[in-house]
Amino acid sequence: MANTIISVKNLVKNYGTFNAVKGISFEVYEGEIFGLLGPNGAGKSTTLEIIETLREKTSGEVIVDGLNLDKEPNEIKKIIGVQLQSSGYYPGLNLVQLIELFCGLYNRQVEPMELLETVNLKDKAKAKFKDLSGGQKQRFSVATTLINEPRIIFLDEPTTGLDPQARRSLWELVKNIRERGTTVIITTHYMDEAEYLCDRVAIIDSGNIVALDSPDRLIDNLVATGFERPKEVKQANLEDVFISLTGHSLREE
Ligand code: ADP
Ligand code: MG
Repeated sequence: MANTIISVKNLVKNYGTFNAVKGISFEVYEGEIFGLLGPNGAGKSTTLEIIETLREKTSGEVIVDGLNLDKEPNEIKKIIGVQLQSSGYYPGLNLVQLIELFCGLYNRQVEPMELLETVNLKDKAKAKFKDLSGGQKQRFSVATTLINEPRIIFLDEPTTGLDPQARRSLWELVKNIRERGTTVIITTHYMDEAEYLCDRVAIIDSGNIVALDSPDRLIDNLVATGFERPKEVKQANLEDVFISLTGHSLREE
């Protein structure tokens, strides 16, 4: 039996009269990559930030590693890793200096070059955050979640806006972090990402969880209902048109 590391029960969040999270319940198991999958506005960030102790809930119960959010938020903070918004990085400091700064804040000793190696940024040690590519920025911000050696890290849409290669590199990083025993909660609106990366996903829509299982079982359950994907109606696509007109593929050169 997997150990439960996060338990959320009947979580509700209202913004004024707007009901953003409508009484959701779920558990995250120790050592898994758990996905909150849903469109913009579904309530993913709200849910994450409540568990991270960064946002007040309206009602419900949240337990993180045996700690009750209402009673011991500061204890929860010590065992979780949270990504900062990029505006949180002092512009004048390079990556090593930023890591040293975080070490001071967390009162931890981490070897900056070792941490940068973990996220494949050793050759950028002297670069400023603002001079990194999109994918490098995301990898660095994941690195900063690891400084306090957390039991759980929270990643809110870490691959949004990245090109396919940078996304894949981030996926491998997330898998490596989990291999080291850290539990990962990640939000995404990319189905392929959730399918590749997550052990289990909660599909969240308009503040409700509409399904929760492994990607495999969710797919099998759908197929078992007799669902079939609509067949491609056309016998060719635009690439076929291009090749037939020019005699070669776009990718040859
Ligand atoms: P997601 O991360 O899934 O895109 P959010 O949790 O950010 O969704 O937002 C859920 C809903 O709550 C959205 O309709 C959003 O507009 C609303 N919302 C989020 N934050 C606030 C806020 N501070 N005040 C009012 N409404 C908010
Ligand atoms: Mg969000």
